[in-house]
Amino acid sequence: MAAAARMDLDGNPILPMTICMIGAGGFIGSHLCEKLMAETPHTVLAVDVYSDKIKHLLDPPSAAEGQQARHPWDGRIQFHRLNIKHDSRLEGLIKMSDLTINLAAICTPADYNTRPLDTIYSNFIDALPVVRYCSENNKRLIHFSTCEVYGKTIGSFLPKDHPLRKEPEFYVLKEDTSPCIFGSIEKQRWSYACAKQLIERLIYAEGAENGLEFTIVRPFNWIGPRMDFIPGIDGPSEGVPRVLACFSNNLLRHEPLKLVDGGQSQRTFVYIKDAIEAVLLMIENRARANGHIFNVGNPNNEVTVKQLAEIMTQVYSKVSGEAPLEMPTLDVSSKEFYGEGYDDSDKRIPDMTIINKQLGWNPKTSLWDLLESTLTYQHRTYAEAIKRSMAKPVAS
Ligand code: NAD
Ligand code: UDP
Repeated sequence: MAAAARMDLDGNPILPMTICMIGAGGFIGSHLCEKLMAETPHTVLAVDVYSDKIKHLLDPPSAAEGQQARHPWDGRIQFHRLNIKHDSRLEGLIKMSDLTINLAAICTPADYNTRPLDTIYSNFIDALPVVRYCSENNKRLIHFSTCEVYGKTIGSFLPKDHPLRKEPEFYVLKEDTSPCIFGSIEKQRWSYACAKQLIERLIYAEGAENGLEFTIVRPFNWIGPRMDFIPGIDGPSEGVPRVLACFSNNLLRHEPLKLVDGGQSQRTFVYIKDAIEAVLLMIENRARANGHIFNVGNPNNEVTVKQLAEIMTQVYSKVSGEAPLEMPTLDVSSKEFYGEGYDDSDKRIPDMTIINKQLGWNPKTSLWDLLESTLTYQHRTYAEAIKRSMAKPVAS
C-alpha cells in the first residue's frame, strides 16, 4: 500500500522538492539534513567546506560481507564541498533547486571581536551572491540570521532596580516592533549582529523591490548534540566555542566552568530538535512562511549563564556518575576570556506571536531534559578521548 501523502497546514499535498542547503555540514545543517532524510521525500544538495557532521548520512551503512547496504534516503542527499566565497558552481546549484537555505556563517562570539573582518565578510559579503542568485533566478530563500540582531534590551539602559525593567515591552523581543540596539563601534562584538542586520535589510528590500520570496530565521540559542567542537579533541586546543561546548569541555575535563563577568547575562535555550520542527514547517508551508521574519526560541527556558552552569553541573553528574567539583565555577573577566572589544546581550526572550500564528509552532523540551540528552551525547562521544588526551605526557 502506498504511504499516505504528506499534507501542509492548509491540507495541500506536499510535493518533493530539491533544496540547496549552504552550511549543511554545521550544527543546525546536520540536524536539518537528518530530519529531511528521515521524514520527508525532499532532496538535499548539501554545500559546505566540511562534511564530518553529516558523514553518517552520506556514507553507506555497514553491511554483511558480499552485500551492499543502502540508506532509505539513498540518492536524496549529495555533498558538494565548496567555499561559497569563491566558487562558480554555487549559482548552478541554486538554479537546480526549488529552495535555498543559507546557514553558512562565522557565528562564534569569540571571533566577533578578534576576527571582525572575517565575521563581517562571512555574514554579509559572502551572503550577497546567494541573495542575488535567488532573486535573479526567482528562487525561494530561507536565510539564517540571529536573535543577536536585537542587541541589548531597552530595559538594560534603565537603572538596575527601575520597576519598568519588569515590564515585558522593555525586554521581550518582537520581530516587527523591537529596535536593534548595538554598542559603540570599538565594541567589535557587534560586528556579527550588524552584518546580519544589514543582510536582513537587503533580503527584505529584494522582497519589496524585486519580489524575492524569502523567510528570515532568528535562532535564539539553539543547543544540542554536535554543537561546535571540544577544544583539543575535534577542534583547535586554543579555540573558544559557544557556551554549551565550553561548559561541556570543562565538565569532561573536571575543571571549573568559567563564568564571564559573573555569568549574569540571561539566555533562553531551545532544543535543536524542537527548533528543526519549526524550520521544516517553514520549508513545507511556503505561503505561510514567505515574507516573514521568525523568532525561533523557547521563552520558558530562561536562565542566567550562572544558573546554566549550575544545572549543567548537576545533569553531568547524573549522566556520568561522577561527583561535581567542590568549586564548580570560576569567575573570569570578559577581557581575559574574549579579549578587547567584547560586549554582551543582557537578556533574550523571544516573542512567539508570529511563528505561532503563521505556523502553529511551539517548543516542547524543558531545559533539564534537553541538557540531559545533550550531555549524555557529550559524555558518550568525548569522555574516552578526553581521558586519553589527558593521560598523554606533555612534550618538553
Ligand atoms: P555552524 O558553524 O555549526 O555551521 C555553519 C556552517 O557553515 C559550518 O559547517 C561552516 O563550515 C559552513 N560555512 C561557513 N562559511 C562557509 C563558506 N564560505 N562556504 C561553505 N560553507 C561555509 O553554525 P550553526 O550553529 O549551525 O549556525 C547556522 C546559522 O544559524 C548561522 O548563520 C548562524 O549565524 C545562525 N545562528 C545559529 C544560532 C544557534 O543557536 N546555533 C544562533 C543564532 C544564529
Ligand atoms: N559564556 C560564559 N562562559 C563560557 C562561554 C560563554 O560565561 O565559557 C557566556 C557568554 O559571555 C555569554 C553566554 O555565555 O554571556 C552565551 O555565550 P555563547 O557563546 O553561547 O553565545 P551568545 O549567546 O552570546 O551568542
